[in-house]
Amino acid sequence: MMKRLFIMTFAVMFLLAGNVEAKVISNEKIDQTKVETASKIIASLQKDMKSFTAKGSGPFVAAIYDSKGNLVVKVANSVVNEQCSNNHAEMNAIKAAEKKLGTFDLAPYNLKLYVTAEPCMMCLGGIMWSGIKEVYYSVPSKRVEDITGFDEGFKPHWFKEFKKRGIIVYGNIETELGEQELQDYVDNGKKIYKPTR
Ligand SMILES: [Zn+2]
Repeated sequence: MMKRLFIMTFAVMFLLAGNVEAKVISNEKIDQTKVETASKIIASLQKDMKSFTAKGSGPFVAAIYDSKGNLVVKVANSVVNEQCSNNHAEMNAIKAAEKKLGTFDLAPYNLKLYVTAEPCMMCLGGIMWSGIKEVYYSVPSKRVEDITGFDEGFKPHWFKEFKKRGIIVYGNIETELGEQELQDYVDNGKKIYKPTR
């Protein structure tokens, strides 16, 4: 009886494990308060994604918050609808925040960037030179590439490189919903924009 109970418990745990989200990763000791805040913000960005894609934007949404938790900007990727390959959600968010605050250096504002997928190689550069202090993302690049076919570039040791520069990173937040939104984008026949090779 005990043996059967043990096997059943194990089987249930195994099944549940198949549905749990990817483990949150960071380049600092994980702070659960930060993870909880990021989960709420990222889940709200994921909910907004469909209204952005309905207007022709790409399937990535980013927001910048200040240190008191106030929203500074929220934008989506606009590569297709604005015909610019640089217009990823993170780049658009940084440009909008710098314009709003009237500065090229966001560092004194202690800002946090939240985004529905791991930043690509271009956006890592954009984040690094903007002065953003913390980055929180949902779906990791590998999964973005598996689901959508977008090319996220090559990014060796970027968690460590960001840490050296004082930029905190948290990844794999609310991935289940994030992956579903990307899958819906593909299933709805939306454009996978990339250069011809
Ligand atoms: Zn990007």
